[in-house]
Amino acid sequence: MNAEERDELAELLFPDLKHDRDYYEKMYPERNLKDGAMVTRYGPSPTGSVHLGNLFSAFCDMVYARQSGGKFFLRIEDTDQKRAIEGGLENITSVLKGFDILPNEGYSYGGDYGPYLQSERTEIYQTYVKDLIKQGCAYPCFMTEQEIADIREEQEINKTKIGIYGHYAVDRDLSLEEVKEKLEKKEEYVIRLKSPGNAKKEIEMVDCIKGKMKFPEHDMDTVLLKKDGTPTYHFAHVIDDHLMHTTHVIRGDEWVSSIPLHIQLFEILGFSRPEYAHIAPITIKDNETGAIRKLSKRKDPWAGAKYYEEAGIPIEALHLYLATITNTNFEEWYLNNQEKDIRDFTFTFEKQAIGGTSFDEAKLTNLAKTYFSRKSGKEVYEETLKYTEKFDLEYHKLLLENKEDMIQFLNIEKGGDRPRKDIAKYSDVKEEFSYAIDSLFEKENYKKYDGDKIYDVDLALDYVNHTLDLSVENDVWFQSIKNFAENHGYAASPKEYKKNPEIYQGHVGDICEALRVMITGRDKSPDLFSIMKILGKERIIKRIEQYRQYQKTR
Ligand code: GLU
Repeated sequence: MNAEERDELAELLFPDLKHDRDYYEKMYPERNLKDGAMVTRYGPSPTGSVHLGNLFSAFCDMVYARQSGGKFFLRIEDTDQKRAIEGGLENITSVLKGFDILPNEGYSYGGDYGPYLQSERTEIYQTYVKDLIKQGCAYPCFMTEQEIADIREEQEINKTKIGIYGHYAVDRDLSLEEVKEKLEKKEEYVIRLKSPGNAKKEIEMVDCIKGKMKFPEHDMDTVLLKKDGTPTYHFAHVIDDHLMHTTHVIRGDEWVSSIPLHIQLFEILGFSRPEYAHIAPITIKDNETGAIRKLSKRKDPWAGAKYYEEAGIPIEALHLYLATITNTNFEEWYLNNQEKDIRDFTFTFEKQAIGGTSFDEAKLTNLAKTYFSRKSGKEVYEETLKYTEKFDLEYHKLLLENKEDMIQFLNIEKGGDRPRKDIAKYSDVKEEFSYAIDSLFEKENYKKYDGDKIYDVDLALDYVNHTLDLSVENDVWFQSIKNFAENHGYAASPKEYKKNPEIYQGHVGDICEALRVMITGRDKSPDLFSIMKILGKERIIKRIEQYRQYQKTR
């Protein structure tokens, strides 16, 4: 076809388009951002519920844009309407909000580069396709599914590359008359790229994360517009990232194999292309087979976004975890920098893992514990209150009734270089601090104590009634309990005891242990004297009596 014929064909196929390319180029001008500002996008398809891998990629988009003073936008890639699920869109926006991964613009956020829903951009894609047809870079292809299946079979038998290219692309050179005839017969068609590539030639590109990569040139006549006139992912990606002025396409590395096609499309369309940063998937060691595999929503409960909310893992802790898998040097930095948070860290593509990142629950737990340890008792109390309001109303009420005490308990051993690390999720608070609320303690009683020691109740009562002074400082208290120990046949220190075990009943630590078990129902707890101070003598005595009863039942 000559230029005139191609113009005629373009008009025939797209008679109703209101605008031309220039119109859209002007409508979406360059963004006015400072040098080095990154424009990133999260482009989910509403085809399933959001999982950890999606959050990871959206998190990367967010931090790179944020730290560079750029923009992060949300574009819904709903070109595959057949696979769309009900509620898919709401799921995406609500999970992003719930996880505090907030785009600066995009679907449901607004902005100057919309619409951000690909299904509302069909005219734009068609306008660019129309132009490609005029230039002889795209053509209508009328092959039926059966014809394509036959070609595939032949290619499989001959062990040649699968697809429509070279002499298999039979509609590439149809004359205008032939096309018209087929159109008159109402034959269905797609629009294919007329690929100028030669697979014997190589192209090279540098991925921000994976570094230099080489590929054979793309030589397939890939579908750009489907039969219903909507674009394929590949075509929509190139048009949108051009018009929305994306500087960095951060996406899962399952798209690496599409790079040659995407580069070719950018070139043919005359666009400068964004940088690519292909991120490795989050993997997991399969419990059954031991093999490393991708996360599976079916097998791994924590792969689904909902899990974190329900378990009460703070969003910030999940962000910390995502940060550690974003950059290999983040975790050490965070653990060594008490006062800092994610926003103080500068992420770099160089420190991004190239291979798969294995999900590490222990690491997530440790980061969450560190997160909690840096919060004041009041902050932990308030956050736990919000969680329990949704997931444990009964405990929520108890927390409200015992506010002052709870804040004090949660505040024990905060501050200093090594703050206490006991809770990893909001749901742990009830468990870990069951002794903090009388009614819970009564219910729980000594269930958590699994030792077999029998402690001297009378000695404990004697101590609390006659020696314990809750108004003094910790060191004074410790000296006094040591004196009490010595006066009652116990050594004042484990060291003393070890020298002459036969002359003592035990040492001061044993007395503390007895008190701890009687008062908290467990043999490990935060600082005993702090707990006793909050409880006050009356409640301490009540618990020791409770312990007497419990001991009788053993
Ligand atoms: N819609 C694509 C997906 O859900 C996004 C790929 C991309 O970010 O370019 O996998």
